[in-house]
Amino acid sequence: MSQPINRFKADLRDIRFVLFEQFKLQDLLGKAPYANWGQEEVSTVLDELYTWTKEQLGPLNQTGDATGCTLVNGKVKTPAGFKEAWKSLYEIGWRRLSVPEKFGGQEGPFTLHAVSEELMCGANAAFNMYPALTQGVADVVQEFGTPEQIAAYAPKLHDGTYAGTMCLTEPPAGSDVGSATTKAFPMGGGKYKIKGTKIFISGGDQDLSKNIIHLVLARTEEAPVGTKGLSLFVVPRDRHDGTSNDVQVGSIEHKMGIRASSTAVLNFGENDNCIGELVGTEEQKGMSQMFHLMNYARIGVGVQGVAVASAAYLNALEYAKERKQGPSIKQWKDAAAPRVAIIDHPDVRRMLLDMKSKVEGIRALILKLAVHVDKVNAAGDDKTAAEYHQGQVDLLVPLVKAYGSDTAFQVCVTAIQTLGGAGFLKDHPVEQYARDSKIFSIYEGTNHIQALDLVGRKLGQRGGANMQAFIKDVQGFAATIKEDARYKDAAANLSAAADACMSTAMRFLGWFGGGKMEMVPLAANRFLEMMSETAIGWLLLEQAALAEKALATLPEDHVDRPFYTGKRYASLFYAVNTLATVPGKAVLIGKEDKTPVEIPIDAFATV
Ligand SMILES: Cc1cc2nc3c(=O)[nH]c(=O)nc-3n(C[C@H](O)[C@H](O)[C@H](O)COP(=O)(O)OP(=O)(O)OC[C@H]3O[C@@H](n4cnc5c(N)ncnc54)[C@H](O)[C@@H]3O)c2cc1C
Repeated sequence: MSQPINRFKADLRDIRFVLFEQFKLQDLLGKAPYANWGQEEVSTVLDELYTWTKEQLGPLNQTGDATGCTLVNGKVKTPAGFKEAWKSLYEIGWRRLSVPEKFGGQEGPFTLHAVSEELMCGANAAFNMYPALTQGVADVVQEFGTPEQIAAYAPKLHDGTYAGTMCLTEPPAGSDVGSATTKAFPMGGGKYKIKGTKIFISGGDQDLSKNIIHLVLARTEEAPVGTKGLSLFVVPRDRHDGTSNDVQVGSIEHKMGIRASSTAVLNFGENDNCIGELVGTEEQKGMSQMFHLMNYARIGVGVQGVAVASAAYLNALEYAKERKQGPSIKQWKDAAAPRVAIIDHPDVRRMLLDMKSKVEGIRALILKLAVHVDKVNAAGDDKTAAEYHQGQVDLLVPLVKAYGSDTAFQVCVTAIQTLGGAGFLKDHPVEQYARDSKIFSIYEGTNHIQALDLVGRKLGQRGGANMQAFIKDVQGFAATIKEDARYKDAAANLSAAADACMSTAMRFLGWFGGGKMEMVPLAANRFLEMMSETAIGWLLLEQAALAEKALATLPEDHVDRPFYTGKRYASLFYAVNTLATVPGKAVLIGKEDKTPVEIPIDAFATV
């Protein structure tokens, strides 16, 4: 096995810029509900957590990938070092930054949670699956559980004594969650016998925590079909007295990536002896309760994307500065010309700027969403503000999840290309980043399901007011830079992109109303891309505008000049190469191409 070494890198300068210069998180700190926090505290946490992730999680990333999880006598064994990392994580309290004080947490802003998640996941995406899901389960129990359930489970889920899982998927129920067949038989007193098989359960078993608390979607016999009939149950692996609760690990999967995260088939009640408790007191609330977890989990998947993509980009950048190959393009005819670092070749520069703009753009999009969450929490009695910010959260979740994850994978693939043959080898981390990041577009609802959520639910929410507010924000900003000679064209691209999003949204309305339902799924992914690219183009240009202000005053030799200069180039690159393609996508959608549904199935291939 290779020696554990840390290859993880994160860009704390960029994270701080987005938090404090772009979104002014400090304005929300020092008062309710974040009275205990100030800019300095947030900043110190970032420094210390980054050090911890590099020392504790980073070195286990490659070794964990090489070993994977194993199933020994029906129990999952995680890779060497994971137990110690779990212990250290909870002893220091890194998972409690945004947890309510009554559960021993520090009640920090969601934005801090998001950036801390980026650091932990970037260092070791597989390891971070276990605690991240655990925190999600704790949140559900806190939100919907009875006082007894909250007391029994939440504190132990927050201090690492217990871990948690979410159990939705079954062989017939993947994207189609409503087809779940796992049964719940009432025993009285809120208790149910649970019987069924769940597949693909992340952290379904492990040797890190004392117990595992499964949140299981199941249905009682008389419940209606579909998602409406699902109820949510707390099903501990072991009962309170330490005896088995009849939850068996059928097998674990052998996977392309996040190999150190166990993915288990779980059999509940093989011996008719698995007991679960209804979450709260009402049956058939399972989907809405699970959605509470899933919304945060979807944001979490976007964070996973930026975390891994950022590490891939920074590793590729380092390699490109060191690897020498060929002469400069300016001396292409001179065979004896000195060899230059590959970062001097235009196409490598293009790949690096492509990765930089996407990573920094997705980060900005995620943190924009996170700040909206914090502003909802801080809105107090201001209902208009709360509604506006919640509306933007709802609208942005599918963009963060789907565009964040798709783009993360593309960035990792570009990172491999940047390294050339070396990128294909296990000597460098980028091939693992690509393998690890592929799952992000699949779980928590495939990205197509996110696109359907965007066009089917989010566009029409509050009578379309969320979408209108988003477009207004974008157009309002575009107007502020349109007179600036350097950004005039970018502003025009941004404004045209926003117009294209709005007119395409209206086109969807027409399809819904005019019986052209088939067009909706055919165009949904492309529309999600248009919205995401518009949002990212906007946020990158906003960063550039701030950077220009800083550059205008900073002395020529100031250490921050290269950082701000980078913002100028990332935004202009994205505006020309991505933002400018958005209106073209609207034109393509307008063509109403139905070939994918018109082609007969037997015409796909005749083999
Ligand atoms: C590593 C890993 C970890 C996971 N962790 C968990 C976990 O912790 N808990 C859990 O419950 N599940 C988990 N899952 C399951 C995951 O959420 C599902 O794989 C995912 O929801 C997709 O379901 P499926 O695999 O059955 O694919 P399917 O639903 O069969 O989809 C296959 C393809 O068809 C498309 N498709 C399906 N239905 C439709 C439709 N109606 N319209 C258009 N297109 C459609 C999909 O987009 C996809 O491209 C995990 C999976 C993996 C691989």
